[in-house]
Amino acid sequence: MSMNTQGRPTGIGSGGAGGNGSSMLPNEPLLFEIGDREHSGVDLPEVEIVTDRLGGFDRASALDLPGLTEPEAMRHYVRLSRLNHSIDSGMYPLGSCTMKHNPRLNEKMARLPGFADIHPLQPVSTVQGALQLMEELSHWLMTLTGTAAVALSPKAGAHGELCGMMAIKAAHEARGQAHRTVVLVPESAHGTNPATAAFLGYSVKPIPARADGTVDASAVVAALSPDVAAIMLTNPNTCGLFEPQIREIAAAVHEAGAYFYCDGANFNAIMGVVRPGDLGIDAMHINLHKTFSTPHGGGGPGAGPVVLSEALAPFAPVPFVRKAGDGLELVEHPQETALGRITAFHGQMGMYVRALTYMLSHGGDGLAQAARDAVLNANYIRARLADVFSLPFPDYPAMHEVLFDDSFLEGSGVSTLDFAKALIDEGFHPMTMYFPLVVHGAMLIEPTESESRQTLDHFCDVMLDLARSAKAGDKERFTAAPTRAPRRRLDETRAARTPRLTWSPPEDLPQAAE
Ligand SMILES: *Cc1c(COP(=O)(O)O)cnc(C)c1O
Repeated sequence: MSMNTQGRPTGIGSGGAGGNGSSMLPNEPLLFEIGDREHSGVDLPEVEIVTDRLGGFDRASALDLPGLTEPEAMRHYVRLSRLNHSIDSGMYPLGSCTMKHNPRLNEKMARLPGFADIHPLQPVSTVQGALQLMEELSHWLMTLTGTAAVALSPKAGAHGELCGMMAIKAAHEARGQAHRTVVLVPESAHGTNPATAAFLGYSVKPIPARADGTVDASAVVAALSPDVAAIMLTNPNTCGLFEPQIREIAAAVHEAGAYFYCDGANFNAIMGVVRPGDLGIDAMHINLHKTFSTPHGGGGPGAGPVVLSEALAPFAPVPFVRKAGDGLELVEHPQETALGRITAFHGQMGMYVRALTYMLSHGGDGLAQAARDAVLNANYIRARLADVFSLPFPDYPAMHEVLFDDSFLEGSGVSTLDFAKALIDEGFHPMTMYFPLVVHGAMLIEPTESESRQTLDHFCDVMLDLARSAKAGDKERFTAAPTRAPRRRLDETRAARTPRLTWSPPEDLPQAAE
C-alpha cells in the first residue's frame, strides 16, 4: 500500500495483508484514512426535522465519520484479522492462558436467538430458558468442583478473584474478624493474586517458593497468625506443577481461622479428575474462557465464575438463579446477601452457553479425558525438549504447561525475548515469557489438549532447530526477528505509557513508535 502526499492511501483494492510469507507486510490504514467525509455506504432518506428535542444541545458541526462502502469496510476488517495470529490459524502455546480450540458447535449454540438476542432487562418470565441454562451451568460447576455455591457474574478471572476475596472479607466481618488484614500469597502465584489482595486493602505477605517450584506447607504454617484473612494459592501453580501439600496447607489455614482462596484459572488441568472442594478450598474462580474453551484474548469477553464452600455460600453476590414455583427467578435484591452485586447485570450469557455446550458435548468422561490429554501434551513437549532446553523443576511431571528457563541459552547472546521473536517467524505464537518470576528468563509452554501429535512434533522440531541455531552462534536469526510479521519489535512500554487513543489526520502525527 502506498500513501500519497496527503497521507491518503492509494490502491485500496489491491492492498492489505497479502500473505503470511511476505517479509514486509503492508500497513493497513485506519477506516478514517480509507473513507472520506463526502461519501456514505448507505442511502438514507432526507430527514424531516419536526421538533428539536435536544434542548439546544444539537451538534454544531458534522459528525465527521468516514464514509465507506460495505466491501471497503468488510475488506478492512478481514485484512486486519489476517495480521493477527489466532488459534484458528496456528498453535498458540501461551502458558497460563490456555489458548485451546473453540468448537464451532459452541459458537452455533451461542448464536441461537433465544440466547443471543435477549436483553438483561426483559421480564424474567420471557427468559426462562436462559435462566435454566445458567442454573444447569451452575450445577455442573459445583459438581465438578465439589462446592456448595457459585457466583456466575464475574466477567474474568481477575474479577472472580475480587469477588471471592470480597466474599472472604464479608465472612470475616460477619464473624467479628475484621482485624484480619493480611493475605498470604506464594511467590509462584499469578500476578493477579497479590494485586487483588492489595486492591481490597489487604497487606500481602509473600511465601517463598521451594527449590522444587512448589509451596512448602511448613512455610505457610510459619506465616499464619491471627491477622491472616486468607491464603491465595494457584493450583496447578504457575510453574505448571500440582501443589503436593495442598491438603496440609488447607488444614493449617482453616485451623488458623483463615480462608483458602484457590486460583483455579488452570482448572483445565484437573477438571473431571480432582474436585478442589475435596482439597479444602473455600473459594475458587474458574476461567470459563480457558477451561471450557470459549474465545478469549484481545480483551475479552471472558467469564470467571467463583465457586464457594459451605462457609462462604451465604456471601455470594447477587444476582443468582433460584427455583420459584414451577419456574426460575433471578434473585437480584442486594439486601438478600452481604455482598450486593459486583457487575451491572448477570454476566456474560454468550460465555455461559459456550461453556455448557463444551461440558455437555464432552460429558464427564470427556472432560476428564481433555484434562488428561492437556497434561499428556505438555509432558510430551517436556520429554522431547528436556535434553536441550533447561528444566528448572525436574522433580515433578508437568501438569497442563511446561516451564523452561534460559540457562540453555547462556553464552549465546540470545535472550528469551529474542528466542520468542524467532518463533514468530516460524509461524507460532510465542510461549509466555519471563513469567513466572521465580525462574530466570522463563519460557512457559501450554499446548492444550487441542493439538495433535503432528503439530506438537512440528513445534518441538522448530524449538530444537532454534536452540541449535542459538548455540551455533547464528545470532542474526534471533536479533533480527521477527522478519515475517507486520511489525518488528514494538516499544511496548511507550505504547502502554503514552497510548494514542484518538485519531488525528496523518499529517499531524509524530512518527509512531516501532
Ligand atoms: C489467566 C489467569 C488469571 C486471570 O484471568 P483473566 O481472565 O485474564 O482475568 C488468573 N490466574 C491465573 C493462574 C491465570 O492463568
